[in-house]
Amino acid sequence: MSAASRSVSILGVTGSIGRSTIDVIEQVRAQGVDVPVEAITAGRNVPALVDACRRLRPRFAAVADAAQLSEARAALSGQNVEVGAGASALEEAGARPADWVMSAIVGAAGLAPTMAAVRRGALIAIANKECLICAGPLMLKAAAESGAKLLPVDSEHNAIFQVLSHPGRVERLTLTASGGPFRTWTREAMAAARPDQAVAHPNWSMGAKISVDSATLMNKGLELIEASYLFETPEERIDVLIHPQSIVHSLVHYADGSVLAQLSAPDMRTPIAHALAWPDRVAVSTNRLDLAAIASLTFEQPDLDRFPALGLARAALKAGPARVAALSAANEIAVEAFLTGRIRFLDICRIVQEAMAALEGTEAGLIAKTPSSFAEVAAVDQAARAAARRIAGSLAAA
Ligand code: NDP
Repeated sequence: MSAASRSVSILGVTGSIGRSTIDVIEQVRAQGVDVPVEAITAGRNVPALVDACRRLRPRFAAVADAAQLSEARAALSGQNVEVGAGASALEEAGARPADWVMSAIVGAAGLAPTMAAVRRGALIAIANKECLICAGPLMLKAAAESGAKLLPVDSEHNAIFQVLSHPGRVERLTLTASGGPFRTWTREAMAAARPDQAVAHPNWSMGAKISVDSATLMNKGLELIEASYLFETPEERIDVLIHPQSIVHSLVHYADGSVLAQLSAPDMRTPIAHALAWPDRVAVSTNRLDLAAIASLTFEQPDLDRFPALGLARAALKAGPARVAALSAANEIAVEAFLTGRIRFLDICRIVQEAMAALEGTEAGLIAKTPSSFAEVAAVDQAARAAARRIAGSLAAA
């Protein structure tokens, strides 16, 4: 099946990935291809949901905040779209019969709707890395049982996915990282970094949470976990390399010494279009790569002292899925505390580290075992959020 005959749903249509997905769909439709849209979701942004409905003409639109149901219904009256709100409406959006589902809600909030799509065997374009990270083994098992296919959208994982279509024994994977806005900053300068500086990514325009994760390099740590799960590769066979130009999106090292990479301009519409048309390709107008204009591509090792998030992510991955889920949940709380001005930039990793240490003491049994159900994942998630909130509260008060 190709994009020519695929119906789609978009979870998180109002975000950065959601907007890029709308753009890609509009470009494909402009080529005379019918791309019916089954369902779309937003968190709270009703005006953006209304705009998405006007452009995509979905059958169903859901807003996560249940209190906004009547506002959403009123705003969408006359658009010939069913409207829902709250957690069950989000799950319904994932469960509705679309062939292809873009999972682009931010954070673990995307898990339940994404799983609704996984359970019915859909093609899942997976941008929402946190939902894979918090329940990776369970999600992959459910996908294997239902026949769902996970198509990576994160540019690094999409690059590896494209390269791995070449057969051969793989020795290592290298994830590239731009290094974020603070790549060249001193630790003292980073200590005083403001939220507006942290979200000002040099190469990519993204939502606030992933932008902060890019500034701490936690994004790369989460991607390392994502790559380990998606490509069944142990942590010690995945490297991270800083590549400030964001042109080489990742590399695969084969057993004969060959290294294959995927290159493109930093534009998320390229991996989104790849996932939408997979295993075909669709013509989409994106920022094109001009290597002569870029002139040089550079690479360097990450500084693990200024960016401890990478080490925290590696340790969690080695320790098992519950620690991984806890790391991501604690990071969500810490990033939110930073974005709302309650803690300082360097406190983000400190909170994650201290929350993990606290859980080793109070929840040792919970985080030692591999969660065997989504209820167990939720218990780990809640314990980690509670620990991170406590630590953030004491840092904010200090
Ligand atoms: P944004 O913050 O721009 O968008 C997030 C989306 O999730 C919005 O539609 C938002 O709705 C919705 N949302 C927020 N909170 C909730 C909630 N509690 N329940 C339901 N929906 C919610 O994020 P991005 O688009 O940048 O990122 C989305 C995901 O994709 C993240 O996991 C990120 O790591 C990943 N990703 C993003 C990339 C990028 O270039 N942006 C690159 C690779 C991966 P509303 O607008 O109404 O608040």
